[in-house]
Amino acid sequence: MSVQKVGVVGAGIMGRGIAQVCALAGFDVTLVDVAEAALDQARNGIAAGLERQVQKGGLSAQQRAASLERIITSTDYASLADADLVIEAATENLELKLRILEQIAEQVGSEAIIASNTSSLSISQLAAVVSHPERCIGLHFFNPVPLMALVEVIRAVQTCDACQASTLAFAERIGKTAICAGNRPGFVVNRILVPMINEAIFVLQEGLASAEDIDTGMQLGCGQPMGPLSLADLIGLDTLLAILEAFQRDFGDPKYRPAPLLRELVAAGRLGRKSGEGFHRYR
Ligand code: NAD
Repeated sequence: MSVQKVGVVGAGIMGRGIAQVCALAGFDVTLVDVAEAALDQARNGIAAGLERQVQKGGLSAQQRAASLERIITSTDYASLADADLVIEAATENLELKLRILEQIAEQVGSEAIIASNTSSLSISQLAAVVSHPERCIGLHFFNPVPLMALVEVIRAVQTCDACQASTLAFAERIGKTAICAGNRPGFVVNRILVPMINEAIFVLQEGLASAEDIDTGMQLGCGQPMGPLSLADLIGLDTLLAILEAFQRDFGDPKYRPAPLLRELVAAGRLGRKSGEGFHRYR
């Protein structure tokens, strides 16, 4: 189950970062999205991201050009047909992801690995709609993908040993450190991180401190590189809300209830960096 060609479905914040690191590691990448505009933005974003690496001296201009040439974009799932590994990184919504995984499985060969980058959904439930569920696995990246060294590898109950071994080997080839996590909502890192961010939103909502002071407090008091509200803006408030709702639903524990202020901002379309405003404003 050696991986040569990679498909990425969903060209948002995560999908474009995943496509970038895979192309940089020498894989041919097909990036698929339903929205042409998302694919255009992804191409521009990847080109700009690689250019920053050139400016910092971490990459040659030839490597940048070669990486960009390795990425093709498409709105047609049929373009995934020859992929050895497809990483699903579309919007965090169960019904949508089930449909997408079915569509991916219809296109790829029976040997291909289908991985989901979901933050909160059950990999076993996602695998259940796929014709070869033993080839399904969770491969959870962190944002921003080019900078964050970690991936979580999550086995579904159906996942076979060979699929896990190939996925771990792939993670190493793209320069990431993998940890293996159990298939529970949020896996390891988000299970700990997301309730902390939610609590920061409750603290803001209760008027205990400003957004700036909450972030400064957690940066300087806890050594966090970025405060929790800035991190929420980076993740995307809609994605964060979807993760908390999944935790609340699947664990049945009210401690995961999303802060009402989070719901309000999402309803108002303030989704964080991607919309230009969340807890902070971005140009
Ligand atoms: P995003 O909103 O930035 O992008 C989602 C993309 O999916 C959009 O471009 C959208 O057009 C596309 N899409 C929607 N329906 C589609 C379909 N049927 N086929 C193909 N593409 C489709 O979201 P994101 O932040 O990149 O999150 C994507 C996934 O990654 C989610 O499962 C999320 O939980 C997970 N994740 C997000 C983060 C984060 O910090 N944002 C971190 C780790 C994992």
